[in-house]
Formats: sequence, structure tokens, C-alpha cells
Amino acid sequence: MRLKTLELNGFKSFAQKTVLEFDEAIVAVVGPNGSGKSNVVEAIRYVLGEQSMKSMRGKSGSDLIFKGSKTLPKASKASVAIYFDNSDKIFKLGGSDGENINLNYETIAISREVFSDDLNKYILNGSEVRLKDIHNLLASVNIGSSGHHIISQGEADRILNANITLRREMVEDALGLKIYQYKIKDSARKLERTEENMKEATLLRRENAPHLNFLRKQVEKFEKGKAMQAELLALYREYLYKESVFLEKEKENLKGEKEKIGHELKILAGKISYSGGESQKGNKKIEELRTAEKKINEIQGQRGELERKLGRIEGMIEAKESRFRIGNICPTCGRELRDIKNDGLETAANSEKEVAELKNSQASILAEMTRIGSEEKSLAGAIEKLKEDLNKEAEALRDLEREKFTYRVRHQELTSALELVNIKETNLKARMENFANEIKEGVALVGQDILSYKNQSADALLPQDGGSKASATTQEELKKKIDRIKIKLEDAGLGSGAEIMKEYKETSERDAFLERELDDLAKSLEALKKLIADLKEKIDQEFKEGVKKINVEFQEFFSLMFGGGTGALSIVLPKKKNRREKVEPLESARFDFEEPEEDVPEEEGIEINVSLPHKKVKELHALSGGERSLTSIALLFAMSQVNPPPFLVLDETDAALDEANSRKYGDMLEKLSKHSELIVVTHNRETMSRAGVLYGVTVGSNGASKLLSVKFEEATQIAK
Ligand code: ATP
Repeated sequence: MRLKTLELNGFKSFAQKTVLEFDEAIVAVVGPNGSGKSNVVEAIRYVLGEQSMKSMRGKSGSDLIFKGSKTLPKASKASVAIYFDNSDKIFKLGGSDGENINLNYETIAISREVFSDDLNKYILNGSEVRLKDIHNLLASVNIGSSGHHIISQGEADRILNANITLRREMVEDALGLKIYQYKIKDSARKLERTEENMKEATLLRRENAPHLNFLRKQVEKFEKGKAMQAELLALYREYLYKESVFLEKEKENLKGEKEKIGHELKILAGKISYSGGESQKGNKKIEELRTAEKKINEIQGQRGELERKLGRIEGMIEAKESRFRIGNICPTCGRELRDIKNDGLETAANSEKEVAELKNSQASILAEMTRIGSEEKSLAGAIEKLKEDLNKEAEALRDLEREKFTYRVRHQELTSALELVNIKETNLKARMENFANEIKEGVALVGQDILSYKNQSADALLPQDGGSKASATTQEELKKKIDRIKIKLEDAGLGSGAEIMKEYKETSERDAFLERELDDLAKSLEALKKLIADLKEKIDQEFKEGVKKINVEFQEFFSLMFGGGTGALSIVLPKKKNRREKVEPLESARFDFEEPEEDVPEEEGIEINVSLPHKKVKELHALSGGERSLTSIALLFAMSQVNPPPFLVLDETDAALDEANSRKYGDMLEKLSKHSELIVVTHNRETMSRAGVLYGVTVGSNGASKLLSVKFEEATQIAK
């Protein structure tokens, strides 16, 4: 890395484009007072991002723009560009910020422009960048922002005048520790942001917590409800299935029963209404019997008549016939007999005729009797038969009556049974209505799923005997359970479950996200804290070591300049208020150090301790201008020696030196130029003699600074 070129355009007294090439180790800028030499130094400060207008002798950015002269117009902007050789690709941009900036260039070109409205622009190889990027970039090549490597006119003893804190910063910068400071600053900013984010996330979580808790409770309630619903669904499915099976079976049973009873009743009704032809037949037979009996009585009467007739006829015949015989046989027999024999005898002729007639009558009577007898016999037979039949019929009727009675009893039984079936049917209907209502209610509470009770596997439900007592108990138990859960569910009020679930999901996800983020933030917070601690430790370590090294060089330059004496830096540690300052003596501090009684510093810093040869003066403020200048130069050179900056700009740092010291100064320049490019603004002949290139700055006829490369002899002339 090497400083190659500086370009000024419209910057202060440089109205036109002016280019300085730094091809030599020591470049001197010479010229009369007021020609614009210091403006060159300020241009370097400016392009490297200087923010203090004071250090550029201006009030605002627009003061840096060429104001115009009698012959030249005012410039619209001031621009300075600086070019570094980057063939070794040493330029870096630390931190995540610079990732998008391309540094893969052979030449790194930084330019800064300021416009009349004070607007500033930083351009890195054609792309606009931030000041921060410029600082970052320069820190990577050991060009610190404290400007310790650019010593403006009259500022040689700046480090001596600075307070201990600023001094420490300058030393840190010179030691190249600024880059770590940037990292710390960057990390601290990130830390702050992280803490803010954490605070914000914590606050958000805290704000969300009550709502989340509320939602969680709702969700728990809802989930409990869901579980209850699931339980209810299972119960419903079982209950409804069993109920449906029972109802169906019961319906079938009742239908069957009703049909059976109806059928039987119909048959019975037929049977009962059957009056029987038997009794009609019986009546007819009784008539017949009566007729036959009447007839037989008549016949018997006739027979009796006939018998009597016959008897009389026979008697008459006998009597007639006996008179004959008696008269013949027994004439002494009684009078009567005699009378009769007489009568007979008297009418013998008549008698015979009469007997014959009588006998005829007898025969016809007998014949009639025979006829009647047979008729009577047949009638008696018929009567007998009729009686028999009637008896039989009566018996049959009795049987029929008995049977009818049985039927009536059965009919009564069946009617009762039918009534019972009807009652059962009414009950079933009510139960079916209940069932339908139960389904409706179930659907409202659990959803359409309960309708799947139809697909329930019968095997899963035991026992399956519908209305049996055991099952009814089970159904009753199921119903009780269902009702209990229903009440609980109604209490839980599951209403907007889906919405609550959605909101809970979103809110809890957000909370989980915040928790994760907090976790990540806490981790990065720790990482940042550790990084900062590590960086501080590193700085502390390197700072201590650096100061030791600087002290070695400082002592050398110091004794070289003063021909003896001691010069050393000491680190002032930070301390609590009202405590006496604690100074950590360094190995190289070869002088007695008195602890100051007052002005106790609160900050960490750097003390400069000097002891001039042959003099008792040790306080910096007691040194002469030349001595202050020599001490500053010695320290500056010591710092530059330990950690050489790419270039050093020294604006009339040698102004206060006498001839002898000018030579020593010249020697030191040469020593330093081995590691750093030197740009020196000088009126000192000795210094000029050490430069490889001399630029002469003069004020041209147009009133603007003019730059020309000059030879040593010319330079000594110009400088005058
Ligand atoms: P010395 O040797 O006395 O230190 P120098 O060569 O360092 O002088 P500078 O201080 O660089 O001189 O230049 C100062 C000159 O620059 C002044 O004359 C001043 O008028 C001029 N100048 C400063 N700002 C502007 C500007 N914006 N426009 C034009 N000229 C300016």
C-alpha cells in the first residue's frame, strides 16, 4: 500500500485541478507564506474524512470551496481525491457493514466533495459511501482518524497539549488499535440495539402475556370441551346405536305382536260368532220327537182301544162260545151260566153268525193291531233314535258352549294384549320422538359425526338385546352420562372455539417467536459482550505492549534531540472519584514520578513524563517552545516508528528548530521514511535537502495557488 496521488479541485486556494504525485519517500512542499501549502495538508485531512472544520480553518464546508478571484469565478464545489496503490490488496472493510463495498481494485480512490450548501459526499472508487466506511477502510491500513500522522502548522505539540484521554486515543490510533475501537463501537451500538430489541421483545411479551393467558385458559377450556365432546360423541354413538337397534326391534316386535293378535282375534271372532246349526237341527229333532211321541201316544191309545175292542170282541166271542160249552158240559152251573146258555142257545143261530162276525172283527182288529204294533215299534225306534241324537246334540252344544267360553276368555286376553301393544306403541312413538330430539341435540352439541352411530359395529356394543333389562340399564346409564356431559358442555360454552384456537395459535406463535428472538438476542448480547470484552482485553494488551515499545523509541529520539534526559509515557488507569491517582510505572520510565496531589483524573489516559538533561524542569507546561516542539517530534516519531503509518504529513514541524536540531530532525525523517512516506511542508533548507521531490506552491497571476515541481535550489529560493 502506498500513497500515490493527491488531486485538488476548487479546494480553498486551489481553484483548478492540481495534482501532487508522491513517488518519493520524502516529498517536500515549499513556497512563500500564504501560497497555499497548508491548504494541501488540509486537503489530505479533508479527503480522509476530517470532521473538525476548525482544523481546516473554516466555519463550514462551503468555506473550503474556492471563493474566486479577480480573474477566476467562484467554484461550485471543492473536491479532493486521494489515490492509494492497492496491488497488495491490503485495504479492508471490517464488520458486516462493508460487505457490499467492492475493494478489489489495484488503486483505491477516495474522494470527498463539498457543495455550497455544505453537503458532503464521499466516493470510493466511483461509488458513494459513508464517512464511517472511509474511517473503517483507512483504519485497516493504519491511517487513524485522530490525525496523529498529520501534523498541521503550529500543532506539533498537539499531543502535549491534549488531555490524557485524547492522548490515549492518539496513542491507540498510532498503534493501529483504532480498528478495534471501531469494532468495539460497532459492537456497542449493536449491543445497544440488541438491548433495545430485547426490551421491546420483553415488553411485547409482557403486554401479550395476559391475553395469551386468557387465550390459553380458553383453549384449555375448549380442549377440555373437545375431549368432552369426543367422549360425548362416543357415548352418543353407543347410545343412539343401541337405541336405534332397540327401537327398530321393538317396532318390529310390536308390529308382529299386533299382527299375531289381530289374526288370532279375527279367527276367534269367527269362532265366537259361529252359533252352530246343531241347535237348529236339535230343535227340529225335538219337534220330530214330539210328533213321534204324540203319534206313538196316539197309536198306543189306538192300540189300547183296539185291545179293549179286541178284549170285548174276544170276550163276546168267549161268552158266546162258553154258553155253548157250559150248556153242554155243565147244565147244573149257575143261573147266569144257564142264562147265558140259554141266551145262547136261544140265539144259537144268530150267535154263530155273530161269532163269525166277531171273529172277523177280531181278525181285523188283530190285523190293525199288528199294523199299529209295527208302526209303534218303528216309532219307538225312531223316538229312541231321536232321543239319542238329541242327547248327542245337547252334548255337542255343551261342548260348543264350553269352547266358546274359552274363546271369549281368549278374546278378552287378546284384547288386553292388543291394548298393551297399543300402549307400547304409543310409548315407542314417544321414545322415537325422544330419539329424534336426542339426535338433533347431539348434532348441535357434537356435530354431524354423531350420525355415524348407524355405522357403529354391533360387535363393539354388548349386549345387543335391545330392550332387555340389562341393556336398558346400560342405556339408562349412558343417558345419565350423556346428560352429565351435556350440562358440563353447556357450562363450558364452546361457542367460538375455532376463532379462539386460531387467535391462540397466532398469539402463542408470536410469543414463541419473541421468546426465540429474545433467546437469540440474549445469545448475541452475550456474544457481543464477550466480543467487546475480548476486544478491550486485546486493546489493553496491545496498548500496554505498544506503549512499552513507544517508550523505547521515545527515549531514543528524546535523548537524541536533547542530547540526554528521559522521556516516557505512563498509563493512567481509570479510578473512582475521590481516590488518588494511581499511576502504573513502566519499565522504561527511568525517572522519578511525583504523584500529583490535585486534578485527580477520572479517566484512563496517557501521561507524558520528561526530564531534560541538566535541568530540573519536569512539567510539560514549563518547557520552552522549542523544547515542546522537540519533545512532540520525538514522541510523534517514536509512535510512527513503532507502528509506521503509510504516510506522515508534517506542516512546518521543524519551524522552531535551530540548525543543529534541524539536522537531527532531518536524520530522523530519513529514518522514518524507510517505513512511511513523508510529506513535509517546510521553509527549512535542511529538511528540503532530505526530500526526493520538491513541490513549489505559489500564488499565480489569477489569484489561485499554483503548483510546480522544483529543484532544490529553486525550492530554497521559492521558500524564501
Ligand atoms: P504559510 O507559509 O504562511 O503557512 P501557506 O502557504 O501554508 O502559508 P495557506 O495557509 O495554505 O498558506 O494558504 C492560505 C491562503 O489560502 C490564504 O491566502 C487564503 O486567502 C487562501 N484561501 C483560504 N481559503 C480559501 C478559499 N476558500 N478560496 C480562496 N482562497 C482561499
